[in-house]
Amino acid sequence: MEYRISDNFSRSSFACKCGKCRDEFKMSLTVIGILEHLKVKFNKPVKIFRAYICDEESKVQFGNNKDYHHLGKAVDFYIEGVELKDIFKEVEGMPDITGIGFSPQDNHIHIDIRDKDREIWLEERREKIPLTNEKRIQYNLN
Ligand SMILES: [Zn+2]
Ligand SMILES: [Zn+2]
Repeated sequence: MEYRISDNFSRSSFACKCGKCRDEFKMSLTVIGILEHLKVKFNKPVKIFRAYICDEESKVQFGNNKDYHHLGKAVDFYIEGVELKDIFKEVEGMPDITGIGFSPQDNHIHIDIRDKDREIWLEERREKIPLTNEKRIQYNLN
């Protein structure tokens, strides 16, 4: 069944997309609130690329590594008509967001709300690398 869970998002936006589970779903209200803020701020459609990931799929993709998607605390997204660097600058200014991954090649940003010190990284060719000042200049993130 399709129903809205907040002003701009429905359950299916956050459900697991592995195709094997029954569209399992778990998502933190804090994350949903962050996405609502971004929708209002940019006034453009927020496109969710990946949100919750079920147990089985999480094992396939992440092994035993901590997967904040599986915990319902992470989302990968972009905003139609908004440059990724502008989304990045906005989320970097939001202290609730403690994990930020900038993925220019896949055109999305990962955000999560881990309970530890903030981590910000860059994803290039599927590799997670530190977002150094040189990389910030390269991608115009300052
Ligand atoms: Zn699944
Ligand atoms: Zn992610």
